[in-house]
Amino acid sequence: MHEKLSALEALADVELRKDEPLARHTTFRVGGPVRCLARPRSQEALFGLLGTLRQWELPFLILGEGSNVLAPDEPWNVVVVQLHLACKDLAATGRNDSGRCAVFAGAGTTLRELLSYCVPKGLQGIECLAGVPATVGGALFMNASTAWGSISDHLAYIEVLDARGDKGMILRRDLRPGYRTMPLPQNCVILGAGFELESCAPELLKERIETILEKRRRTQPLRYPCAGSVFKNPEGQFAGALVEKAGLKGYRIGDAQISEKHANWIVNRGKATARDIIELVEKAENEVYGTFGVRLEREIRILGQLYRSPALC
Ligand SMILES: Cc1cc2nc3c(=O)[nH]c(=O)nc-3n(C[C@H](O)[C@H](O)[C@H](O)COP(=O)(O)OP(=O)(O)OC[C@H]3O[C@@H](n4cnc5c(N)ncnc54)[C@H](O)[C@@H]3O)c2cc1C
Repeated sequence: MHEKLSALEALADVELRKDEPLARHTTFRVGGPVRCLARPRSQEALFGLLGTLRQWELPFLILGEGSNVLAPDEPWNVVVVQLHLACKDLAATGRNDSGRCAVFAGAGTTLRELLSYCVPKGLQGIECLAGVPATVGGALFMNASTAWGSISDHLAYIEVLDARGDKGMILRRDLRPGYRTMPLPQNCVILGAGFELESCAPELLKERIETILEKRRRTQPLRYPCAGSVFKNPEGQFAGALVEKAGLKGYRIGDAQISEKHANWIVNRGKATARDIIELVEKAENEVYGTFGVRLEREIRILGQLYRSPALC
């Protein structure tokens, strides 16, 4: 392992932090140290890093805002790669035949940055995602959406680096995005995406965003660290309503709690561990299955050795 890490240290333009706790990089504020956190400072440095990781067979994970993951408490032998320095471009690249404006966003930019770029220019299409704490890469990987729309609605193409290290472009028309899934080639890294956005008065966009954020503040437990919805909504039902009807609203294991405000959210009330959270997830799965015969599907991604398939009784 030491030799492998030395190979990483020899790379130019890559910021490395050894034994970095993931709690600093996840919105649950949970997660023990990973072998190494790597931040390439350019695309060339990213390609060099990924090539080295594959050559040395070092397991790695791309992490965005860390807002949809549960990381293990224990030390984890993985290299976590962040893209906010290497894939940070934001550019309007002209209007197409239908008068729409083409905008390119690097995978490491946040939705907040993309919105701040689009709103003053009067470009609409992304504002439906106001308040989702995501990078463009993470939002695409998860096909993030809200009641107002989805990241795929105005998507034109995704730029990726495949598992062999080849760069390519996947057109929206060749993709069938699903509920919190984007069918991309396995192990590819999203580098960025092109969107086709329509014109709209900036004032109107600001109003829409404020309406969305106000609704979020009213209905979501934003005071505590969390990862948003824990379960996908089963067809025709709301996961939160099922968890609530199973009597679990406010239920607590350690410092992990099923939110009193929204039962599909688990919040970290202080020093919750990943173990507390996973036990709470399993408790909700078991109670909902026992009460209603419905198998809840997890929306949050459970990382590392914590992963267990749902143990339903
Ligand atoms: C307060 C709060 C509110 C939320 N509200 C919503 C909501 O309304 N709608 C919604 O859909 N979600 C919501 N979420 C969940 C979360 O924000 C989304 O799933 C978001 O898309 C995750 O983006 P991220 O950058 O944080 O990805 P991460 O959580 O860092 O990663 C998620 C997955 O994407 C992969 N990934 C990330 N970037 C790349 C890349 N460049 N290439 C390849 N793989 C990549 C990671 O490896 C990981 O498997 C919410 C979360 C919180 C905390």
